[in-house]
Amino acid sequence: MSRLRRRLAGSNNALASALLGLLARDRIDESTWDDVEETLITSDLGVGPTTELMGNLRRELSIDGVQDPAVARAKLRAELIKLVDPTLDRGLRITGADGQPGVVMVVGVNGTGKTTTIGKIARLLVAEGRTLVLGAADTFRAAAADQLATWGSRVGVQTVRGPEGGDPASVAFDAVAQGVAQGVDVVLVDTAGRLHTKTGLMDELGKIKRVIEKKAPVTEVLLVIDATTGQNGLIQARIFSDVVAVTGIVLTKLDGSAKGGIVVQVQRELGVPVKLIGLGEGADDLAPFTAEGFVDGLLG
Ligand code: GDP
Repeated sequence: MSRLRRRLAGSNNALASALLGLLARDRIDESTWDDVEETLITSDLGVGPTTELMGNLRRELSIDGVQDPAVARAKLRAELIKLVDPTLDRGLRITGADGQPGVVMVVGVNGTGKTTTIGKIARLLVAEGRTLVLGAADTFRAAAADQLATWGSRVGVQTVRGPEGGDPASVAFDAVAQGVAQGVDVVLVDTAGRLHTKTGLMDELGKIKRVIEKKAPVTEVLLVIDATTGQNGLIQARIFSDVVAVTGIVLTKLDGSAKGGIVVQVQRELGVPVKLIGLGEGADDLAPFTAEGFVDGLLG
């Protein structure tokens, strides 16, 4: 079993064990499927997607007359994969045009794991042999820039930072300008996620993006969502996607008490794919997201 699968199976224990318990029954009948339906709804999958999935399952199973738990499990697996959507392009957009660096803006509410995620992505990219600059455009907390710089020195890349309380857009600009001057492959820009007012956030993120783009186009806007926050995470996602064009989602803390069904809801809500998942606080605890890997983690 892969590390990702082990982690996910552990993390989504409630859902995984409930599903496994249900499908391990000798007889799979209508009441089993009612229980499966309830389990899925309570796992943050949402009523709409669950109803769709159960409709497909019921149709197929009544045609096949399936009572064999192994077959039922395989059909449930196939339907879950369909919901998570294996056809979405989940590659990070880190290739800039015309020899410019790819620019990745990382946005999300404070505490969701933005800085940690940037550190993990930086490590992955450095391991692939790419060159980077980090931009500490969260200038509101001195600790945020320190934390990013610590990740930077750990993986051996430069962190561009400004004075505490300085203009985030100007730090982002400086980071991208450095990246362009040095001819690096990618610039990763950390931002503050103060949800004080929507207008404030919109002004700030919009300005950061506009100012960066005086130097080089932003190739990816990653929204970081803490998977343990369930429906709240969805509300945050909506606010951020209203203020900036999000191109990919990172779901963090899936190693905790998160109920993995949120993946499906957040993808539907924003119409953009989950690209990466955070599975812990360590440098290696980030994994590319795949529909199959995720569902296999859920079903054990
Ligand atoms: P930011 O304010 O959005 O930049 O969030 P941070 O990167 O500072 O992370 C906030 C807290 O969440 C820190 O204690 C991180 O170690 C922790 N964290 C980040 N990602 C993960 C994850 O995938 N799993 C777990 N368990 N903790 C995480």
